[in-house]
Amino acid sequence: DELSNKIAAGEVVERPASVVKELVENSIDANSSRIEIDVEEGGLSKIRILDDGEGMTREDAENAFFRHATSKIKDEQDLFKISTLGFRGEALPSIASVSRLTIETGNGEGPGTMIRYQGGKRIASSSSRSRKGTEITVLDLFFNTPARLKYMKTIHTELGNITDVVNRQALAHPDISFRLTHNGRQLLFTNGSDDLLPVIAAIYGRQTARKFLPLSVKTLDYEVKGFIARPEVTRATRQYISIFINGRYIKHFPLHKAIEKGYHTLLPIGRHPLVVLHITMDPVLLDVNVHPSKLEVRLSKEEELLKACEEGIRNAFRGEQL
Ligand code: ADP
Ligand code: MG
Repeated sequence: DELSNKIAAGEVVERPASVVKELVENSIDANSSRIEIDVEEGGLSKIRILDDGEGMTREDAENAFFRHATSKIKDEQDLFKISTLGFRGEALPSIASVSRLTIETGNGEGPGTMIRYQGGKRIASSSSRSRKGTEITVLDLFFNTPARLKYMKTIHTELGNITDVVNRQALAHPDISFRLTHNGRQLLFTNGSDDLLPVIAAIYGRQTARKFLPLSVKTLDYEVKGFIARPEVTRATRQYISIFINGRYIKHFPLHKAIEKGYHTLLPIGRHPLVVLHITMDPVLLDVNVHPSKLEVRLSKEEELLKACEEGIRNAFRGEQL
C-alpha cells in the first residue's frame, strides 16, 4: 500500500542519484541500446530517462507499480543466479510514492501506455502514442517528504552523485549509448560500441585515456578484462577503481587492495590508481543479495580472483617503459 511504499522509498531512494541508478538499471535490464538521462537542478526538480528497450504492455506497466511485482525472478532458484540488475521489485513503487511520476511505455505493438502517479496515488492513465521503449519522468522528488528534502545537499553535490552513477553505468556497458544532460547541457555521451576505451576517454578525457594499458586474465572460474592507468596517473581516493562483476558495479575492499598490490611499489604513497575492470563469472559464485543497494557482494573462491587481478596488473606493466 501507499504507506509501505513510502517506507520502502526511504531505503531505495536516498537521493536523486538513487532514482537515476534504479531507472537506468531497469533500462539496461530491458535490453536497451540507447539510454538518455536528462536532469534539472541536480535531479531535484526533474529526472527523465528515455530508453529504446523492450518496453511494457499496459498490464506490465500497471503491475510494475505494485511492490515486489518484479518480472525478473520467476522462482526461488532464480535467486541463486541473478543475472539482471534489479530483482526486488521495489524501485518503481518507491519512486512513485515520493514524487510526481509519469511513465510512457510501449512494446512496439499497438498503442502505448501512459500512467501518472502523484505521491503514490495513481492520478491518470490513458493510451499514448505507439512506441518501443520507455520514458519515465520524475518531477519534484521528495515533495511530500519534507524531512528527506531538507537532507539534500547542494545541486552541485547531487549532480556529482548522478554523474558518478551514470559514468559507472557507461563503463559497465560500453555497448549501450548513454547521454547525460543537466539543465540542457550535455555532460556525457558515449557511442555504444564493443570498446571500453572510448568510454574511458569520454569520462576521463582523451589525454588520460592514452595512458591506459589493456589487461586480460583468465582463470578457471573468472575472466578479468579492462584497462589500468600507468602509475603516473593517480588519484587521491580509491573511488577511481571501477570494478564490474557481470556488468554490476561493486565495491569490494579486498579486491581494491589486490589491485593496488599489483602496482607494487609503483604507486606513490597515499595515491590510488585509475582502473576499470570487468569480471565475468558464473553467477552462482556470486551473492548480490547482501544489501538493498546491491553494491556489496560476497564471492566464492575469492582468493583465486584476488590473485588473478594482482597478477594481471603486474603482467600489464611487464615490458612497458614506465
Ligand atoms: P525490479 O527491477 O527489481 O524488477 P522495479 O520496481 O525496478 O523492480 O521495476 C518493476 C518492473 O517494471 C520490472 O521488473 C520490469 O518488468 C518493469 N520495468 C521497469 N522499468 C522498465 C523499463 N525501462 N523497460 C521495461 N520494463 C521495465
Ligand atoms: Mg529495478
